[in-house]
Amino acid sequence: MVLKLFNTMTRKKEVFKPIEKGKVRFYSCGQTVYSDMHIGNARAYASWDVLKRYLLYKGYDVFHVQNFTDVGHLVGDVDKGAEDKILKSAREKKMQPMALVEKYIADYFRDNDDLNIMRADIYSRATGHILEMQEMIKVLLEKKHAYIVDGNVYYDITSFPKYNDLFGMNLLKSGGKARVKKDPNKRHPKDFALWIKATKGHIMRWPSPWSVGYPGWHIECSAMSIKYLGEHFDIHCGGKDHIYVHHPNEIAQSEGYTGKKWVNYWLHNEFLLINGEKMSKSKGNYYTTRQAINEWGGEVVKMFLISSHYRTASNYTNENLETAKKNLEKFYTTLNLIKNSEGGKKTNLEKEIRIVKKKFEEAMDDDLNTPLALKEIYEFMKKVNKNLDNKKEILNKASDTILLLGRTLGLKLEEKKEKIELEPLIKIIIDLRNEYRKNKNYKKSDEIRDKLLKTGIELKDEGEKTVFAIKKF
Ligand code: AMP
Ligand code: ZN
Repeated sequence: MVLKLFNTMTRKKEVFKPIEKGKVRFYSCGQTVYSDMHIGNARAYASWDVLKRYLLYKGYDVFHVQNFTDVGHLVGDVDKGAEDKILKSAREKKMQPMALVEKYIADYFRDNDDLNIMRADIYSRATGHILEMQEMIKVLLEKKHAYIVDGNVYYDITSFPKYNDLFGMNLLKSGGKARVKKDPNKRHPKDFALWIKATKGHIMRWPSPWSVGYPGWHIECSAMSIKYLGEHFDIHCGGKDHIYVHHPNEIAQSEGYTGKKWVNYWLHNEFLLINGEKMSKSKGNYYTTRQAINEWGGEVVKMFLISSHYRTASNYTNENLETAKKNLEKFYTTLNLIKNSEGGKKTNLEKEIRIVKKKFEEAMDDDLNTPLALKEIYEFMKKVNKNLDNKKEILNKASDTILLLGRTLGLKLEEKKEKIELEPLIKIIIDLRNEYRKNKNYKKSDEIRDKLLKTGIELKDEGEKTVFAIKKF
């Protein structure tokens, strides 16, 4: 069976063929680290987690790079004339910009880990790659893909004729949802800034041949992906919003720089919605990932995120999270039933194990169809629940299969340690001891009391009643 992925560039599902046999190199656009990650952002990362885990399942050696944008992303996603998101947030919170960045990167990892999203091999920070970006800008200037106006460097979009047709968007016509702010320096309204001259209050600034300034938002992804993945790599991912500006600009920069094709497959996730609208920080209609995890737990949230196909919009509602919770419980119920079953003589589940694996792979090979893959696992688990009289070794194989498939989708499925409630247990012992006391077998009742004391449980007889205290050492 072959993996097919929907390539936004060709608008078709294509058979996935890596550039280098057995290896996949991919890049995903990451977080701008100026505030809490919202649960819509987490949807993007959970989607690429599924991609990565399934590639690993298929036996590929995967190398994944994701960025942290810590400079250059301006308020409103415009490319000049607005404040840097990091600087604005740092000013409002009265923090050093890089202290702010550290905080949100730490929070990102905490939330990421709670959602069981595999870490990338490299998290590259824009501020750590200013030289690489400048090198790229120099080449773009030499190749006449860029021009300088008053210390600012712009990409000349007309120098890259492919631009209009990228993603089939007719980007130079008004149709593209480009967020363009009028800038008299630009030759074409869709030209975009590669380097921006710092204004007086702009404390994030670096020397360059053109001005003391800072990079535009898009150049970081080109420079860092090429540095770590090479001039031609397999997959580039990001949220659907990037189809209109950020990704076309990345392509213009990278292919302008190398003079050849940059990325083979472009994958874009649909939005997470709230009340039918895209969840976004600028609209303020968001739940942070932390809020969602605190309310529902990381694994339920992850189940919710993977329950819809990555190219289908999904809604953040209590109802959908409740459904995710119930579906997750199905996994634990079956795994526990298997664990507690002694098994029998039947062998019919052996065939079902082969079938569920095949169906799971068919679903996932079809552009990572997670809802269908989950449905197949639920069907299988229903069969397991009704056939616990299979041989124990087959039941164990069924359990391994459920764990393998569930974990390939990114569920933790950790074995839950069973908690034993101490109080009812002690009460049973007290009752037993009181039987001895009633029968005047004080030797035995004292023995129980002394033995309990050694474990840190103190009994006190108050007339007929016995109370206990747990001693702290
Ligand atoms: P940002 O920090 O705004 O650059 O976003 C980080 C990632 O989250 C990008 O890949 C965005 O496309 C993606 N993203 C932002 N909002 C949503 C949303 N509501 N649903 C799904 N993905 C989103
Ligand atoms: Zn990017």
